[in-house]
Amino acid sequence: MNRQFDGKTAIVTGAASGIGAAIARELASAGATVIVSDLDLDKAQAVCDEIATQGGKALAFAADVSDADASRALVDFAVKETGALHLAVNNAGIGGPSEKAGDYPLEGWRKVIDVNLNGVFYGMRYQIPAMLEKGGGAIVNMASILGSVGFMNASAYVAAKHGVVGLTKAAAMEYAAQGIRINSVGPAFINTPLLSANLDEETIGQLAGMHPIGRLGTAEEVSALTCFLLSDRASFITGSYHLVDGAYTAQ
Ligand code: NAP
Repeated sequence: MNRQFDGKTAIVTGAASGIGAAIARELASAGATVIVSDLDLDKAQAVCDEIATQGGKALAFAADVSDADASRALVDFAVKETGALHLAVNNAGIGGPSEKAGDYPLEGWRKVIDVNLNGVFYGMRYQIPAMLEKGGGAIVNMASILGSVGFMNASAYVAAKHGVVGLTKAAAMEYAAQGIRINSVGPAFINTPLLSANLDEETIGQLAGMHPIGRLGTAEEVSALTCFLLSDRASFITGSYHLVDGAYTAQ
């Protein structure tokens, strides 16, 4: 049995659904105590209950990542409940309006930047000091293929995810010598509620066809890469951006 995260505490944001829930399940199955954080406490608790039935340890916490105080409270909760913070996945994200840049709704722009970019900064702003207190840690920030290529009618999302890739590089350089590794992950289109709740079947089929591998990815495939980057097996990997994209960006 894989127990590589035994004794570690991990925060995962946006962990009540999709990719975040898959990461929370995989970390817990390998021994971590996972703080399952999301907007909705009941949904986060449901993931914790599922983890508990598999023999894992998880605690639910409601926090909006676009609120700096809530991000600090999340880290304080992790440290108070478990004694330390070792791992964090800043995963929460939203799609945002679909409009050309010249028509993009201003409120939609602010919201996407607030959640998808500021939310990652607020997370690291409080996770890093907590990790330094215990001599190091590992962070993965959830970017996207749209952290390195464009997509029409999604300027806010594309800008935010490019920002996550840059923020990750800068912070990784700052803390590499102090034992904190920070990487970003770039999934292509993944079959989660983010897609199924917002797009019809025909559009999802068209998106699948844009990947040379011929299908969408799964949340578990993104989790596998994320958990590898969090693990000690990735001990020389920091400051980089890792694709999990079925050759989408190889074209
Ligand atoms: P998902 O199934 O919608 O899950 C995201 C979770 O984050 C939801 O539970 C959502 O809650 C929560 N959330 C939204 N805003 C939040 C906030 N302000 N604070 C805390 N939690 C918040 O999405 P997913 O597909 O798993 O996406 C996870 C991450 O992967 C995102 O950063 C996304 O951009 C990235 N990603 C996804 C894909 C894809 O194709 N699915 C591709 C590349 C990158 P509600 O449901 O209540 O809004």
